Amino acid sequence: MPATPTCGGVESALASLRETYVRSRPASAELFRRAAHFLPGSNTRSVLHFSPYPLYMASGQGATVEDVDGHGYIDMVGEFSAGLYGHSDPVIREAIDGALDRGVVLAAPTLLEVDLASLITARFPSIERLRFCNSGTEANILALMTAINVTGRNKIIAFRGSYHGGVLTFPPEGNPLNIPLDVTLGDYNDVEGTEEMIRAAGKDLAAIIVEPILGAAGNIPATSEFISMLRKAASASGALLIFDEVKTSRCGRGGMQGRLEVTPDLTTLGKYVGGGLACGAFGGSAEVMARFDPTAPGGLKHAGTFNNNVCAMAAGVAGLSQVFTPERADEFLATTDAFRVGLNALCVERGAAMQFSGLGSIFTVHFTDRAITRPADIPGHSRPLSQLFHMFALLKGVLVAGRGDFFVSLPTSGVQLQALRQTVDEFIRAYEHLIPAGQREVA
Ligand code: PMP
Repeated sequence: MPATPTCGGVESALASLRETYVRSRPASAELFRRAAHFLPGSNTRSVLHFSPYPLYMASGQGATVEDVDGHGYIDMVGEFSAGLYGHSDPVIREAIDGALDRGVVLAAPTLLEVDLASLITARFPSIERLRFCNSGTEANILALMTAINVTGRNKIIAFRGSYHGGVLTFPPEGNPLNIPLDVTLGDYNDVEGTEEMIRAAGKDLAAIIVEPILGAAGNIPATSEFISMLRKAASASGALLIFDEVKTSRCGRGGMQGRLEVTPDLTTLGKYVGGGLACGAFGGSAEVMARFDPTAPGGLKHAGTFNNNVCAMAAGVAGLSQVFTPERADEFLATTDAFRVGLNALCVERGAAMQFSGLGSIFTVHFTDRAITRPADIPGHSRPLSQLFHMFALLKGVLVAGRGDFFVSLPTSGVQLQALRQTVDEFIRAYEHLIPAGQREVA
């Protein structure tokens, strides 16, 4: 194993895998060509693009999917965490069927939103009252605007590498589509620097928004020290602390806030919370959320045709009450994290500078054995190796997100997890001349 991989070596290995991919996936290629006439670059969802062209899926069942060329895959993308229940959970299916039977556009409140709201408030004590919306992006925009209105201030602190939605994302290269809020960026897990930044913003600071696991930048967990500091400093400044738990609310029965025992002022949810259908939510204390009471003089108005759409509400209720119960959430976190830790042990055993950062069912492959506490800790050679792993795994029938993310879904069997482990092992053996040598154990 080399000390650092040669760029050319990874590129030519990737080119060779891509040739196999193109030869064996002609139907996806054809759809990609057709789509170019109607969708810019054949794309309507940036994260799904990869070179030479993405797979077009025909169907899914349990924790597997099948592409339009007839290749089957173990689905480790899990719809970037929204697919927690897999593709065919009978309980979810029955709930959606029931909603369809009763009519889908009722233009009125229904029992379903009452039930889903009550299940969510029972699970997340910081959420005494909440409102539904259509996506995690909407939930975060609304949470930030709530904080701005409640505090009468306008500055926001977010973190480098964070993703709070297509118009609220902070990659190194910036994002011209971001909504024009007054955002200052801190470094994730930087306790002193962020504390100073909060002090400097003083009485202009409306909100601090943070993912308890920094997701799109590589599933980097926050330290407990960092999160506790944010809680204390936000309270001292009078700003609202917003936890974006759009993905991480699945990490145990109370999400990351339960695990870290920190109570944010506002929490945002999405992804699996509508049973795999489009859904978002934001909520906090009864006092803060009372601003949305339509009978309150000068109350905030937040409309949205599909805020309480019956299919997502019904699927969400069924999911939280019958499938992803608090006990199941805890058990799922424990078993998936043991699996993730086992993958790290395999990397050490094979002498590969490689690790799977994250927690439980949410993790990302990186090619370093150093501790990763912020995006800058991920070395430049990691990304091309992740792309190589992505293409290798895909050709072996294991679907991973293009950037090396994994989101394990509930129906994933022990055999399927072992197939992923086996794929990791085969990858290390096949490319040991390209993967840097590992020195240390990682957690
Ligand atoms: N926040 C986080 C942490 C996310 O991962 C995402 C989606 N990847 C969002 C917000 C936005 O959610 P949506 O795609 O439903 O708008």
